[in-house]
Amino acid sequence: MRYISTRGQAPALNFEDVLLAGLATDGGLYVPENLPRFTQEEIASWAGLSYHELAFRVMRPFVTGSIPDADFKKILEETYGVFSHNAIAPLRQLNGNEWVMELFHGPTLAFKDFALQLLGRLLDYVLQKRGERVVIVGATSGDTGSAAIEGCKHCENVDIFILHPHNRVSEVQRRQMTTIFGDNIHNIAIEGNFDDCQEMVKASFADQGFLKGTRLVAVNSINWARIMAQIVYYFHAALQLGGPARSVSFSVPTGNFGDIFAGYLARNMGLPINQLIVATNRNDILHRFMSGNQYVKETLHATLSPSMDIMVSSNFERLLFDLHGRNGAAIAGLMDSFKQGGGFSVEPERWTEARKLFDSLAVDDAQTCETIAEVFAQTGELLDPHTAIGVKAARECRRSLDIPMVILGTAHPVKFPDAVEQAGVGKALELPAHLSDLFERDERCTVLPNDLKAVQAFVSQHGNRGKPL
Ligand SMILES: *Cc1c(COP(=O)(O)O)cnc(C)c1O
Repeated sequence: MRYISTRGQAPALNFEDVLLAGLATDGGLYVPENLPRFTQEEIASWAGLSYHELAFRVMRPFVTGSIPDADFKKILEETYGVFSHNAIAPLRQLNGNEWVMELFHGPTLAFKDFALQLLGRLLDYVLQKRGERVVIVGATSGDTGSAAIEGCKHCENVDIFILHPHNRVSEVQRRQMTTIFGDNIHNIAIEGNFDDCQEMVKASFADQGFLKGTRLVAVNSINWARIMAQIVYYFHAALQLGGPARSVSFSVPTGNFGDIFAGYLARNMGLPINQLIVATNRNDILHRFMSGNQYVKETLHATLSPSMDIMVSSNFERLLFDLHGRNGAAIAGLMDSFKQGGGFSVEPERWTEARKLFDSLAVDDAQTCETIAEVFAQTGELLDPHTAIGVKAARECRRSLDIPMVILGTAHPVKFPDAVEQAGVGKALELPAHLSDLFERDERCTVLPNDLKAVQAFVSQHGNRGKPL
């Protein structure tokens, strides 16, 4: 499988190189040159497979030529073996034909584990083969950092540095990062905000001299392997609910458009999906596009669903590429006008095309809490605020009651106690067994000033399993 850039100017890469690549050299994102397509018979024959077996069938075409089948199978079995629920992505029924797919049974209790557990193992496999080491430098406001650290903690060939804003992430989220020890794991608390952290990561990619030749790898949501891993659970859910003979709809709590883009790909690979709902919080750039063809940057709002607090949605470019007939020059032009003027619209036919599949809703904090309370009263299920936004959007935007609606349950409620408390459901939140002693564990973290040079010096001092690069 070859991968091409959405802006048309970067060289095509194979899977191995795309795994290590991050952004393409022309500023675009990598997408498969040709998407695999499965027949209905083939998809139907996968009913009853275990999660890792299904994952192998769905993802195999993407890694062909880079990873032999037997090795890939082993990697997938290990990856999904660390999840704490046997069904890996169980469906829980809320209402007639309305389901939550629980994607929070991984080590860090959010759906990002599905991709990052796999990414860590794939990186290590490829690096071992090449006899190389890499350094990961990432910024987090919460979920990504812990999932990336958990995914890389056993990697022999990866050193990971995660920057978070000092005293500005929740205690659960901080402890999920700082209580994982290893000589290749480095938590850095920056005396600044999340944007400062992100700027330092960007600047480090732009000028990598401090790495003394070691390659820097991105684990943010633009990494192709993360998208790829997320395609699998759309197939998994549909097969449980009568697919592919019957079509299914999905409502997806959305920030950077990575998770829902995987659903779009599942559909293009042959899975009958009737409707995809983009569920956003008050940071609603995607809702403004879907409802009114306006993709315009606005200021950032802090909400009760912080993992969806974004101003621009990085993976949206991948959808735009398809909507424009895969014309890289057109995308480069659009992105340029976005950079210059902070926004754009697309031609009406292209927007209409998108609207055939996508609907959207923006849900504010008050509605989020109402939904948590409502669902708890109706079913006894406690939703996290991100998932609650997905439920609200599913109920508002649903096109057909006859078609099963699956809401992606992106996080466990225990990660977001503020929202649960504000919803007033009065149920005690308990950490799952593997994290029950989280608040007693020792923490390891280095506080650094908001200064790029200090951070880069720290990375080069510790980037080789705690020793200098
Ligand atoms: C990251 C995240 C999201 C948003 O996913 P995208 O792929 O960025 O759209 C939603 N909910 C939770 C809990 C997350 O951690």
